[in-house]
Amino acid sequence: MVDSPSTVRPDRRAELAAGLARVRSRIADACAAADRDRAEVTMIAVTKTYPASDVVALAGLGVADVGENRDQEAAGKAAEVAAAGVSPRWHFVGQLQRNKARSVVRYADVVHSVDSVRLARALDAASASGRDRPLDVLVQVSIDGDPARGGAVPDSADPDTGLGPVTDAVAGTAALRLTGLMAVAPLGWEPERAFARLAEIATAVRAVHPAATALSAGMSGDLEVAIRFGATHVRVGSALLGMRPTLR
Ligand SMILES: *Cc1c(COP(=O)(O)O)cnc(C)c1O
Repeated sequence: MVDSPSTVRPDRRAELAAGLARVRSRIADACAAADRDRAEVTMIAVTKTYPASDVVALAGLGVADVGENRDQEAAGKAAEVAAAGVSPRWHFVGQLQRNKARSVVRYADVVHSVDSVRLARALDAASASGRDRPLDVLVQVSIDGDPARGGAVPDSADPDTGLGPVTDAVAGTAALRLTGLMAVAPLGWEPERAFARLAEIATAVRAVHPAATALSAGMSGDLEVAIRFGATHVRVGSALLGMRPTLR
């Protein structure tokens, strides 16, 4: 028998409450250390691999923002959560294929992972026909310039994957709103070096697109450093929900 999303076992609820208390205090401490207002930082609970019942429980604990990285999993989970009468903001944070754009725009409030002009155009078309209001978009940046793990490339003239062309394309659409940048610290980089570089990139992008104020950076292992370098959104999975059974 499968639990319905509205029934969360009390021990699981307690586990989530404890994880949430730890993460919230880490965020508060990091904001204090960086002399930043706590209200500037939004925690996104990345619930991939975890069931809809966890999303419902987290919402009951005051979590308003939820992240997912695979369309197939996210679409079903968002429907289950909605059926339970709960409506968090859904953030899509994973690599996105253009053929999934029409699905994602139906449940996502924010997409963090736009990294090509072609994907921006596909999302714009999908958003124009599948939504009644614009979709918030963060452009994903490749901090080390290697596009293999996703991300538009700073200082690249590539018309499809250069950061300038991608931010300009998103800003120029009618059905997308450029709200900021997202990045993951590259493997093998110290988070300090990665997020310092990201802060420079964000400053340059804001000089051209002043409304692009969001900076989605920092995960379970490096959220303090990301907050020190200006993150406005931290994406937290394992520190909140527990270690995932598979690495992804
Ligand atoms: C899984 C994931 C996270 C959360 O990672 P944790 O290390 O579990 O906090 C954040 N961002 C993206 C893009 C992810 O895929």
